[in-house]
Amino acid sequence: MPGPTPGRAHCILRERCPTCFSLETWGHPLADGGDVQLDADGCFSYRHLRSAGDGPISYDPSYFIPKEKVDKIWQRIEEASHRKPASIAPAILQEAIDACEASWDAANEKKQKVDPKCHDASGVFFMTCRHSQVLFLCNIDTPGEHQEYILSLMEEVNDYLSLHATVVQTYDVGCVTDHSLNLFPILSQGFHERVCFVINMMHAFGHQWVCQMEYSVECFWSRIHKLIGITRNHWNSQHIWMIGQYAAFVNHEGCENLGDWIDCQQHTNIVKKQNTAYKVLRDCGVPERELRQNWEAQKVAQTLIRSCVYIDGASGLY
Ligand SMILES: [Zn+2]
Ligand SMILES: [Zn+2]
Repeated sequence: MPGPTPGRAHCILRERCPTCFSLETWGHPLADGGDVQLDADGCFSYRHLRSAGDGPISYDPSYFIPKEKVDKIWQRIEEASHRKPASIAPAILQEAIDACEASWDAANEKKQKVDPKCHDASGVFFMTCRHSQVLFLCNIDTPGEHQEYILSLMEEVNDYLSLHATVVQTYDVGCVTDHSLNLFPILSQGFHERVCFVINMMHAFGHQWVCQMEYSVECFWSRIHKLIGITRNHWNSQHIWMIGQYAAFVNHEGCENLGDWIDCQQHTNIVKKQNTAYKVLRDCGVPERELRQNWEAQKVAQTLIRSCVYIDGASGLY
């Protein structure tokens, strides 16, 4: 991959988070944290009652991406599921990926409280930057959370980024999505190479240990819970309008407070966490170099590929 290359993100992204998207060079190595760090998750509290209906309003959604874009990604996934997967060595044991997928499916089943007969949208999927500024949204119109939502929003962000931008993407089932993308070329050409998935710390405990070693970071979450009850009984277009407007308000407020927030993180919270970490290191009495060597040895030992490298990944696509 070439080194940092001059370029600009689209003004839509620069307005939504000037701190993340005002870079003038793009392509910083993923191992160093990449150019931008994004978070994505679905929230099934924002289901919409079918009986509330839909109707036209004079509003062009700027945060919600059109359903056609989500359907296009679903179509790519559907086509990929009929193709032979790439023959690759997975980053971690196939058994671990299968176990993560199974626990995610189980969690997904619990979320399926939504009856498609009663609800025409079962939730809303969010993409935010690391400062919790909302970038894009889409309606979830399947009973559970499928991969087309995360991939559609990633593609939407990518459309407005430099072609060299590197993206660290947190997602609660990032390991399974990453594995699917290794097997099937679902994302636009050249995009997957610029993406690294990590798992929110909050969700990491539901994953296999080897998965937590490969993918792990802390969670950010949405601030628009006040709208849950209000939006359910309006037209779907009004539900989209209200959530979109509130996202714009939250972003505006976020931008105003961003300087203070960063100052507080840099001068208070990071210092506190660093001091705690240094104390743990000092108390354990083992030199840092030795700890790092042990960590590397542990990763190698626990991610050894015992099984055959050819994988049937089609089942993990949804
Ligand atoms: Zn940001
Ligand atoms: Zn996992």
